[in-house]
Amino acid sequence: MPTSPNNDTHFDLLIRGARVLDPFQALDAIADIAIADGRIAGIGDYSSASADETIDAAGSIASPGWIDLHAHVYSDGSVSGLDADGEAGIAAGVTTVVDAGSAGAEAWADFKKSVIDTAQTRVLAFLNISINPRLKPKHGDWANFSQRKTIRLAEAEAAAGRCLGIKVLASQTHCGNLGITPVKLARQAARLSGTGLMVHIGNAPPLIDEVLDLLEEGDIVTHCWHGKHGGILGRDKKPIPTLWAAAERGVKFDIGHGSASFAFETARHALDAGLPLHAISTDLHKGCVNGPVYSQGRTMAKFLHLGLSLAEVIRLSTISPAQLIGWDDRLGSLATGREADITLFRVIEGDFEFTDSEGEKERASRDLEVVSTIRAGRVVRDVRRGA
Ligand SMILES: [Zn+2]
Repeated sequence: MPTSPNNDTHFDLLIRGARVLDPFQALDAIADIAIADGRIAGIGDYSSASADETIDAAGSIASPGWIDLHAHVYSDGSVSGLDADGEAGIAAGVTTVVDAGSAGAEAWADFKKSVIDTAQTRVLAFLNISINPRLKPKHGDWANFSQRKTIRLAEAEAAAGRCLGIKVLASQTHCGNLGITPVKLARQAARLSGTGLMVHIGNAPPLIDEVLDLLEEGDIVTHCWHGKHGGILGRDKKPIPTLWAAAERGVKFDIGHGSASFAFETARHALDAGLPLHAISTDLHKGCVNGPVYSQGRTMAKFLHLGLSLAEVIRLSTISPAQLIGWDDRLGSLATGREADITLFRVIEGDFEFTDSEGEKERASRDLEVVSTIRAGRVVRDVRRGA
């Protein structure tokens, strides 16, 4: 446990007696968290200190605020986005939500005004490579691309701390007859704007090998463990060679559960093979928030069920996604001086039915229940008080 002055300092907020779990600091101990001016003032024994507000967190776990690397908090007409402060955000323990391409260049200004600038939840976003992703298929028409608009916007909005990069959906549903071309355009837009790239994988065409071969160090593959034909596994249920090659180049892998993109079977083969995983995310939208996904917490619980440790599940929902988006100097840890984004939760024991995107149901014995969310030092949700 870190040492701290057990003095009579007065803080804005004290969280007393939680099990503090911060994988970035290799911290797992019962401690108090002191918060002042919206930031972490210290972690340790603050039993003699006072505060404007105190939370008795005995029996709860305090982790860095959860980051959902793939969700939808803006409605583009085809994917129905959720309220960023509702089930996708602070109401469900998520202090930073990454919108994965709900808006393209044409709608970005409205997205910024109506969601990014107003939500209490921190909202970051990938910009869709199609300027108008309402069209179907999203990437199916030459007229729906403008490298000039997309590159300029991504560069400016990245500098403003809002845009993380470019999103492309590399599947038949979204690419129509343009095949691999939208992925090439997205890779080029990311390179020329100096931003990141998130690639959705799904049904071919384009073939997964073509997609993976285009990806570079730091690019993010979302829906990595989907259960469709033509995913990361070959007929022998082993990862395909292009997948290993991409992993060795430093390509990153994100769950993006969603209504169609996570299979227990694929996950078990991937874990057995020792594949790297870098983020547990939901792909939450109106079509999966009432099942099979429900929430970030439930998605994390599915990985406890698959055998990952609690510390690893927390790492994959805090510091690891922060590293993927280059925000690990600000997000994903409870280190002193950082903005105080904290998720207070419990691991509850019981008999739960978990369903994957293929409709497979399994019995699980543990779920995660959010108790409170603290965003920038303010308690924004507290189940115990019925807020
Ligand atoms: Zn999505």
